[in-house]
Amino acid sequence: MTRIYNFSAGPAAMPEEVLREAAAELPDYRGRGMSVMEMSHRGDDYQAIFAETKTRLARLFALPEGYRILFLQGGASLQFAMLPMNLLGGGSADYVHTGVWSKKAIAEARRFGTVRVAASGEDGGFSRIPRQGELDLDPAARYCHITTNNTIYGTEYFYTPETGDVPLIADCSSNILSRPLDLSRFAMVYAGAQKNLGPAGVCLVILRESLLERAAEEIPTMLAYRTHVAGDSMFNTPPTFAIYMVGLVARWLEARGGVAAMEAQNRRKAALLYDLLDRSDFYHCPTEVESRSRMNVPFTLADPALDTTFLAEAKEAGLVGLKGHRLVGGMRASIYNAMPEAGVARLVAFMETFERRRG
Ligand SMILES: *Cc1c(COP(=O)(O)O)cnc(C)c1O
Repeated sequence: MTRIYNFSAGPAAMPEEVLREAAAELPDYRGRGMSVMEMSHRGDDYQAIFAETKTRLARLFALPEGYRILFLQGGASLQFAMLPMNLLGGGSADYVHTGVWSKKAIAEARRFGTVRVAASGEDGGFSRIPRQGELDLDPAARYCHITTNNTIYGTEYFYTPETGDVPLIADCSSNILSRPLDLSRFAMVYAGAQKNLGPAGVCLVILRESLLERAAEEIPTMLAYRTHVAGDSMFNTPPTFAIYMVGLVARWLEARGGVAAMEAQNRRKAALLYDLLDRSDFYHCPTEVESRSRMNVPFTLADPALDTTFLAEAKEAGLVGLKGHRLVGGMRASIYNAMPEAGVARLVAFMETFERRRG
């Protein structure tokens, strides 16, 4: 079996050890004679898997008192609507607009109330994260929403906005658990699993339970956070296998030293790539240095006519998923937790050789 280095933005590479573990227990989970995906979600075996997954995540996040971990469906995209449906209630919320995903979040929120754009990176082509001093915040906002990592434009927050008494809510889909996060600063964070947590099909939501005191009552049962808090994510059948996989990823993270160790590794990986981009005249990185994402690294070639050759030769070298998002063009290397340093080193070596031959 050969594994290649997959730089896709999502669904993204999973840790090889996790895939092997899941494969080994797939047809017969620990002598039960059945797969995890065949188990009743209410049975003892699955309940144990579920509890262990939550415990591991709580440890990894250093979950503060009063916070709940939920596993929901509909991806991060459903949270764009579910959040304002529960918490906007015809009022006004602040959104910081930093790219494609925040645009979608804003569009959904507008269906349920007023959106004030507290800052927008649009004029600058979303190449940087607005600073605290640039945020025009409304102290009466129901909440303030940010996107901690902009998967498409390759920018990331390296500070947590100060919003006073206004609850801060974040879409962390593409940098969750890539570095420590002080959850006590957030009222809620959410993340589709398929970038940094596991397979597609489950969305992690962590919220401060007191946030629900102001949640809407007259909304569909399945779309109310209250329902899922009360049912401990088991009001209906949860995506059982995807949650089990998230549990294996959480165990893998803990065995490797947790989020602090991940952060150190992710810094080294990102530095390898950005150092090359900065010393080269052939490659160009469009993002501002202070805002550069450690998860998604966009870059262009000096001659876009070489893009297809670059991608074809990269594929031959065992490096795939490097084509940039259609809105941005060029290339993008997504280097989430599961991408080993050796994969980034291989990419950098390939890029150097390509530049020597074609530059
Ligand atoms: C991928 C992504 C989404 C969309 O996630 P889905 O699970 O596909 O709905 C939302 N926000 C960010 C930041 C993303 O990277």
